[in-house]
Formats: sequence, structure tokens, C-alpha cells
Amino acid sequence: MLACLAQAACGPSGPTEAPPADRRPADLLVFGGTLVTMDPQRRVIVNGAVAVVDGAIVAVGPAAEIAHLYDPARSVRAAPDDLVLPGLVNGHNHAPMTLLRGVADDLRLMDWLQNYIFPAEAAVVDRDFVRTGTELAALEMIRSGTTTFADMYYFEDEVAWVVRDAGLRGVLGETIIDFPSPDAATVDDALAYAERYLQSWVDHPRITAAVAPHAPYTCSPETLLRAAELARRYGAPLLIHVAETRDEVDQIRGDYGSSPVQHLEQIGFLGPDVVAAHAIWVDAADRATLARRGVGAVHNPESNMKLASGTMPLAELRAAGVAIGLGTDGPASNNDLDMFGAISTAALLHKHMAADPTALPATEALALATIEGARALGLDATIGSLEVGKRADLIIVDGSRPNLVPRFDPYSHLAYATRGSDVKTTIVDGRILFEEGRFTTLDPQRIAAAARQAAERVRTAVARGP
Ligand SMILES: [Zn+2]
Repeated sequence: MLACLAQAACGPSGPTEAPPADRRPADLLVFGGTLVTMDPQRRVIVNGAVAVVDGAIVAVGPAAEIAHLYDPARSVRAAPDDLVLPGLVNGHNHAPMTLLRGVADDLRLMDWLQNYIFPAEAAVVDRDFVRTGTELAALEMIRSGTTTFADMYYFEDEVAWVVRDAGLRGVLGETIIDFPSPDAATVDDALAYAERYLQSWVDHPRITAAVAPHAPYTCSPETLLRAAELARRYGAPLLIHVAETRDEVDQIRGDYGSSPVQHLEQIGFLGPDVVAAHAIWVDAADRATLARRGVGAVHNPESNMKLASGTMPLAELRAAGVAIGLGTDGPASNNDLDMFGAISTAALLHKHMAADPTALPATEALALATIEGARALGLDATIGSLEVGKRADLIIVDGSRPNLVPRFDPYSHLAYATRGSDVKTTIVDGRILFEEGRFTTLDPQRIAAAARQAAERVRTAVARGP
């Protein structure tokens, strides 16, 4: 142990002094590399270190300093070129849809959903499908630096089991929708299912069980309110798609005479426990309402671009005071779970749309996937930055990759040049989930075999058609 600590306390030529004898015990020390903390001061610490006790960060600072204070049971050494940063927060996902990736592309949202995705789901989604799809998603997320994700799907209790076993962190919403779904024939059944799910995941340290009414156009006002009442009875978040397409706005205006956001406001759905995915077609009044109600919004630039749904007015929402996170959306509409891709796409998209290269600069784009994303999910006191007292969710990016050498500005590389495949270590709650090409909690071969098997059922269902 002294040898590794000496590494932290030494220059390239070797130890400069022996570590003192009265150091405090720590479970883990991550040292070396450049820390991009995303703390309020946005500190960047060259040759930094993070000490972890019981899954929480107890110290962040220069490696030489921290190594003199802590005697770790385990240490992880980042190379001098590496970047150490908070684990990424994927604010909107449908993890099991990894098994529907590439089934139908290049279609409009309503066509894609109603003629392909919903029928395929009706035919193939069951507990096994959800388990295998989520395991596959967990591999991809862990491999590409995502440590927390928000999810909306069916059999969400199965998603929770996988997240628990994989070691990830999640805000996991059981879907409520007005038509028969794979896990519930009626809304009553869906609400009862969701309640049992909420009851069995109370107070889990890494899993926040949530209720996910699908959208204002797939849930009646009564369904939305029953879902909200259930969630609020358990203090659970509400995840929902809002104002994703112009068609949705037209439909809700036709049915209720107001925009999707105002419709949700009028029925009493909105509050600080609501996380709204997309929020694309929101006017000034909608933005003010979302801000006043403390709703978090999640931007999904790649899914929105692929489905040509529109562009979230991100600058206007932020100016109104809405917390904004970043998501991939499900892998059937993105088509990957690489948050580094989402960061880069978000930055480029908003520059392009505003015809202004100063729009959404690199530091702010990275914030959407870390501390701001955590804020949108109501988790910013727990995760999103490398700060004392937060959970130890962090990743190491291999700074020696050809696309990352040389480096002038860590934010620039993280926003524009890094890809998920450049992540070399992923740690959640102080536990190493991926290191040196190896997964510690999941078996990629077994999962790939199960995924190929599940794909045969998808192929048959899609061949049959809607
Ligand atoms: Zn979605």
C-alpha cells in the first residue's frame, strides 16, 4: 500500500518523502490525472486525488496532499494525461429498448411509435426481455461513463433489479399508459403494479423508484392525476414526456384547448417532483410555468434530431430558471447510450440553431451531463460533481487516446473530442464497475448471447407487421 501511496506523493522520478504514519483509513483513493470537479468553482486539479469512505467522497484535492491524509485499502492510479470527472447523468432513457435498436429508423415519431415500436413491444416485451435489454444497456452505460440514468419502461421492477446488481444508480419509472401494456391490461392494473414497485424499493441507496405516466397524449387527465397522486403519496418522482412534437401540441390543443404544459398545469400535475423529457414545443408562458413549478427538463438532442421532432429552446428555458439535464432517450431512437455523444451533439446543435458559436460553450454542455443533469433529477445534493459529502460516482477518461493528445483545455476535449469508448474506469458509490476493459459486475458474453436470442423474437414480431 505504501508503494502506491508513494506514487501519489511523488514526482515522476520517485518518492520524495515517506507518507506519515497517522493517516486516516479510506476504502478507495483515486489519484493522478486531472480532476474536472464540476463543483461550484469549477475547479480543475492537475495531479489530483479523491478519497472515498463508505461510498462517499471524503476528500478532493492535490494528490500529494490527500495521500498524506489517507491510507486507502485500495487505490486506482490515473495516468498523468487522464481526466477524472463525475460520472455522467443520462436524464432520459428506456434502457430495455437496446433490444429494439435499429428495428425501425428514419420514420416520424407517431408513425415510428404506433406502427413499429408499440406493436413490437406488445409482441415481445416481458420480464426476460426487460432484464436482458437492461443488462445490455447497463454494459453500454458503464462502458461509456454513465453512472446514473433516468428510465421509463414496463416491468420497471426488473430494471431496478438489474441496476441494483450492476451497481449503477437510477431514477426508474414504471410506465402508466392508457392502453393495454406488456405488464398491465388496464390503468388500474398499471397503477397497482406501480404501487407494489414503489413499496418494494423504498429507501434503496442507489435506486429511486418513480412513476412514469407516458405523455399527455397517451394518458387521460384522470390517468395523469392518479399517477401523480400515487407518486406523491410515496414521495416518488414523476417522469413524463412533454411537448415532444408539433403533432402532440396540435392534439392536446384540439382535445383540451391548451398547450401540453398548460394542460398539465391546469390539472394540477406539475411540481418540483416532475421531470419532463423533451420540452421542445414550449412558449414563453410554458417556460415560465415550468420554472415556477420547479419542473426539471431533459434535453435529448440526438433523438430529437433523428426523429426531426424539433429543438428544445434550451437557452430560453435556462434563462427562465428551469434546471436542464441531458439524455440519450431510448436506444431505438438515438441509437446509442453514449452521453459524450449527447454532450457534443447538444453543443453543436445549439450553436447551429442560434447561428452563434458562443451558444452552449463546452463547460456548460458538460454541466448538462453532470451537475445540472443531477439538479434536473433532484439529485444534485448527492451526485453530479466531485465534492466532499457526495457519493463517489466518478469516471476516468483515457487521455492518451489519439483523439485526446495533445490537450489544451480539458472542457474542450470532454465536450468535443471524447467518446464513450475513451472511458477506462467507471466507479459508482465507491465501487469499481469497469476497469482496464473488464466489467466487475456483469458478464458481457452471457448478456450478448441472451440479447441475440431475444432479437429472434423481435425479428419475428416485426416481420409479422403492425
Ligand atoms: Zn423517451
